[in-house]
Amino acid sequence: MAGQKSNEAWDAWLRRLKKAVDAGYYRTESAEGEQTGFPWQGHTCGDCPFWLHDVCTVYQVARPANAHTCRYFDRPHREQGRARLYRRRWELLRSD
Ligand code: SF4
Repeated sequence: MAGQKSNEAWDAWLRRLKKAVDAGYYRTESAEGEQTGFPWQGHTCGDCPFWLHDVCTVYQVARPANAHTCRYFDRPHREQGRARLYRRRWELLRSD
């Protein structure tokens, strides 16, 4: 009997978790008002280390702070972003 009750509680918790994940949240263990988005959600260019004074230094173009991020925002691709930035700077120096 106790086992069945704990299974029902587990099922209910799992259903809440799935519903929250589908809605884009990952913290379901506390009150709904305290649920937060996944860490990789809601990021913008303004949060990117390559963004400076409304300019993306990788692409060398104006980018508003609330623009969607590109692949270089993600940590595994940051080294590629840095290499692209340095290559671009080098090309600009050589063209002077
Ligand atoms: S590298 Fe990508 S995420 Fe970062 S500022 Fe430029 S466009 Fe935005």
